[in-house]
Amino acid sequence: MIFLASESFKTDGDIIPREKLLHYVQAVVRSSLTELGYAQDLIRYLEEPQRILKVKIPVKLDQTGTRVFTGYRVQYNDAPGPTKGGVLFHPDIEVDKLQAMSMWNGIKSSVLNLPFGGAKGGIICDPRELSFREMEGLARGYIREISPIIGPDKDIPAMDASSNSQVMAWMMDEFSRIHPEGLSTFFTGKPLIFGGLAKRDSAIADGITVVVKEAARLKKINLNHAQIIIQGFGSAGSLIAKSLSRSGIRIVGISDAYGGLYAPEGLDIDELLDSRDSFGTVTKLFEQTITNQELLEKPCDLLILAAIENQITDKNEENIKAKIVIEGTGRAVSEHAAESMTARDILLVPEILAGAGDVAVSYLEWVQHLQGNIWTNEEVDRRFHQIIGAAFQSVAETAEERNMTMRRAAYLNGIQRLAEKVRFRGWI
Ligand code: GLU
Repeated sequence: MIFLASESFKTDGDIIPREKLLHYVQAVVRSSLTELGYAQDLIRYLEEPQRILKVKIPVKLDQTGTRVFTGYRVQYNDAPGPTKGGVLFHPDIEVDKLQAMSMWNGIKSSVLNLPFGGAKGGIICDPRELSFREMEGLARGYIREISPIIGPDKDIPAMDASSNSQVMAWMMDEFSRIHPEGLSTFFTGKPLIFGGLAKRDSAIADGITVVVKEAARLKKINLNHAQIIIQGFGSAGSLIAKSLSRSGIRIVGISDAYGGLYAPEGLDIDELLDSRDSFGTVTKLFEQTITNQELLEKPCDLLILAAIENQITDKNEENIKAKIVIEGTGRAVSEHAAESMTARDILLVPEILAGAGDVAVSYLEWVQHLQGNIWTNEEVDRRFHQIIGAAFQSVAETAEERNMTMRRAAYLNGIQRLAEKVRFRGWI
């Protein structure tokens, strides 16, 4: 039986607006647990985070006195082990979005079979308006407020795309002042000299590269002769292009917000990266470009979606000619389109697996911290590939056995592991 997502939860047509993210994640948890045969008590328990802390953070600003910021830390579920997730610095944070992200991080960790529950933190602020010193005050103040609920065995704050390793170092240092007796280096995304990993910056792209190799092997495609298109040439897409072309893989199409470039004989990625303007745009520099939509519909072996949501929906699904589609960004393919493409034998690798590189790198950084080890980059690469490769195999097997999309299979794998950990602990 092909499991139709639309049977288990309603979305607004194909498009799930961002503000409905929590509804979407909750529906994923509910429908997966129902499909797996779990009881209502457990479903009700896992469809919401275990803990939400709201804090006030007073910071002395350089010019205008003290301003009180609001922050949150949301912990989805710690049955698998400590919760883990990034701290988002953004002006429009809503707690339901953080809840959804904490749940997503938890499911992602479980899809990778890592011993973590999910978490997400957020501070309502506009980092562009804050000086270096104000940012330090905010990061330290946040840690003072949430310190009772974080720690190496409790909850691990990680780096989010909106912050950097300096912010993580301030957080780590503040925690060590509060708990001088304990190891404070459990934070992830730290500077290299504190045991951070060089792979952090390219983690998502490197995870996609692993998935490209695994998916090609499954579909018996020789990557030496394959044609690959990447939609998106921003921070994610350009790193993916770099990572793939360094592995000797031919990229025949790329696009940015202004259009796409397509050359069946292959594009010179290094040259394109060098010629980007200060906005990261490249297609504006060319006379001959095609639209983003045209690029998606070009024949290729592998299409990687690294731009924005809802790029493949019922409207264009029939025109997609790729043999493998990889979601490098969340919900790039709508639920219905995912079902139809799978029925047409297109392998769709979902974001929850393809985009899990940062969670895997965080895990490796945490293990290094626990063991007091320093690994070589090669050793980090080997372990990273092993984690994502094993998760890919396991999701592909579930999809095959249950005759469903890899997306549903990934949800089932991750959510079942989580539910079993809750059950074995005897909580429900
Ligand atoms: N980028 C994710 C987040 O912000 C993952 C963090 C991590 O576990 O390293 O929550």
